Amino acid sequence: MYAQVIVDLLNSETDKIFDYKITLPDVSIGSRVVVPFGNKNIEGVVIGIKETSDFDETKIKGISGVLDGMPVMTKETLALSTFITESCFVTRASALRLFLPSEMRKGKVREQYKKFVTINPDIDYKSAIDSLSKNAVKQREFLESLSASVKAGYTESVSRFGATAVKGAVIKGFAILIEEKILRSPYSNVSGEKKNVSLTLDQQNAVNTIVNTEKQTTLIFGVTGSGKTEVYLNLIEKVIKEGKTAIMLVPEISLTPQMLKQLRARFGELAAILHSGLSAGERFDEWWRLRSGEARIAIGARSAVFAPLSDLGLIIIDEEHDGSYQSESSPRYNTVEVAKFRAEYSKAKLVLGSATPSLESFLCAERHEYELVELPERINKKPLPVVDIVDMRKEIRRGNNTPFSSLLKDELKRCLDSGNQAILFLNQRGYSKSVICAECGHVIKCGNCDVSLTYHKEDDALLCHYCGAKYKMVDSCPECGSKFIRYGGVGTEKVCEELSKLFPFVPISRMDRDTTQNKDTHFKILEAFSKKESRILVGTQMIAKGHDFPSVTLVGILDADASLHFSDFRSSERTFELLTQVAGRSGRAEEAGKVVLQTYSPDDPVLSLAFRYDYKGFYEREISLRAATGFPPFTKIVRVVISDNNEQTAIEVTKAIYGELKDVYERNKGEFRFFGALKAPIKKLLGKFRYEVLMRLTPEREDIIKTVFYTANKYNNKKTSVYLEINPNNLN
Ligand code: ADP
Ligand code: ZN
Ligand code: ZN
Repeated sequence: MYAQVIVDLLNSETDKIFDYKITLPDVSIGSRVVVPFGNKNIEGVVIGIKETSDFDETKIKGISGVLDGMPVMTKETLALSTFITESCFVTRASALRLFLPSEMRKGKVREQYKKFVTINPDIDYKSAIDSLSKNAVKQREFLESLSASVKAGYTESVSRFGATAVKGAVIKGFAILIEEKILRSPYSNVSGEKKNVSLTLDQQNAVNTIVNTEKQTTLIFGVTGSGKTEVYLNLIEKVIKEGKTAIMLVPEISLTPQMLKQLRARFGELAAILHSGLSAGERFDEWWRLRSGEARIAIGARSAVFAPLSDLGLIIIDEEHDGSYQSESSPRYNTVEVAKFRAEYSKAKLVLGSATPSLESFLCAERHEYELVELPERINKKPLPVVDIVDMRKEIRRGNNTPFSSLLKDELKRCLDSGNQAILFLNQRGYSKSVICAECGHVIKCGNCDVSLTYHKEDDALLCHYCGAKYKMVDSCPECGSKFIRYGGVGTEKVCEELSKLFPFVPISRMDRDTTQNKDTHFKILEAFSKKESRILVGTQMIAKGHDFPSVTLVGILDADASLHFSDFRSSERTFELLTQVAGRSGRAEEAGKVVLQTYSPDDPVLSLAFRYDYKGFYEREISLRAATGFPPFTKIVRVVISDNNEQTAIEVTKAIYGELKDVYERNKGEFRFFGALKAPIKKLLGKFRYEVLMRLTPEREDIIKTVFYTANKYNNKKTSVYLEINPNNLN
């Protein structure tokens, strides 16, 4: 018998299936194995087993070892890995890596065991104690303590009673040593009580429709606070009762503890969490709990869609419109597409939920490809918060140069006076977005990237938000030597500083990438806010979605235009989503909520649709624009990005690729809505000059995308990077 093995090496020369003789027991499809490769031993995964090999059978080597107690991949996840290989144009090995916790490779993390001591069940406990000599005080205490606790940690016992007493009791056979596997469980402090709610009619209807529909995918279009989570929990409960498993995805790691809390309250240890913020050991253990079937609900951000579950019955993608579901680094997979593959394979249901569905999903619902369920009202019919639009141009004319309009200041004061809480949203971390010379207008930029640097006051440093480089703050202009340095654009740090001047005794917290470096900080900031230990929460898009804080009655959107004026075709959609989501954090419980939206373009139609919560109005407007201009979902954007340390090389490669692709374009003109080559909007990143060949293709022609990939990929090498993006989130 021969095993077909994919070895864990990422280069394209080894991107093949290798045959090995099966000389050991326990080799199955999906097993991780060690195989001789060249003069080394490396790890690999068995993807198939066959009777004969096409290679010279006398030269085929044998498998040298089988890892793990059971196969790590299932038939389904193997099929999915092939799908990823083909649709994301990556090697088989890099597709497989999506499925396995990285710490599993090369045995970096292992199972953890702990030693315990307990009373030997075969002895008569009382006579054992009586038989001890009078001087064996510690040993007696130790054995007496054991009778009460049944099982005690070995190390803890030794430190309490001394090694002599503990070891003595073991040698005499009164106590025995046992070893047990310990699970490193993340968020052990996260637990909650099950809320006993009975579903509203709309929620009940949503559950019934999803259970009964013939369609694989359902879109839940439910306004913020309409109780989508309760619907998800109900669906999961049904699936678990049928003996199946479920995946629950949220768009941000910061939202996982909240969801975990609700899942643990209902399903206890059946819920396991998977995301990149966990420690290596935690991720390893949670992964195995899912693989072994001990846990049956996987929760996490994007990457949890690869959870090692068998008998999948349900996948839920909450806030399905969110940009984070598109992976921005290789393998560039789209989570919804991956989920569709899994649902299809396992005959499971896929549920997409949002208050602002992506245009693509809503179009599918309109075309009856998806089932559509609506939750048009907030729970208890609470009204959506009233939005006041403030024209910031007028504020500036009046001489107000702070980040807060006078209306927002008044509302903040009123909100705090009545004992409530406020959220201020601003999508810019740091102190000031850029630093500019007031005399010559020079903008301080990163040495590696063609982007302006952001000033961070806490570090007193300039940071590049693209490559992470850190520079000393300047005290004069590097171009003209002027001492007059100006800050451009306000960040969250500055907002907090200004706030504490306005409200010196009010505790304020900040949530952005800088304050949430490790996994517990998310949870701590949010817990403190929900316990009202802090009264104002300032944050970036991390706080925009999902969170449910009953005492928040005011939301301030400090710069509603920030995302509106990007050249990206999706900027209106993103702005509409963001504003609706942020506004949705206000007035979720008893008291009515309010939103103050500050803007420099108060007449923009997207803003007025957002403040009326008119999703369908927005959808109609935007979808006809997209149809007329030939943008997604009516086309697929395909971008070939070329970058090189040497600008001349980058230009030459771009020309060559453009030239070859021009032939593809000429042959398929009907399928192209656009074709061109340009300098990328960010022309230098991490020291590399960037160019792009851009095209928009009718979505049906996957084969053209493949041709584009194979044509461009020939130019990809160690020096010049060439990669393909399909419908990327941003076209920087
Ligand atoms: P969404 O995810 O749609 O924004 P949530 O699921 O967070 O909304 O629900 C909003 C609030 O309403 C939560 O506090 C939730 O506990 C509560 N809720 C949900 N369903 C019910 C129900 N049937 N009865 C009472 N309260 C409910
Ligand atoms: Zn200057
Ligand atoms: Zn940089």
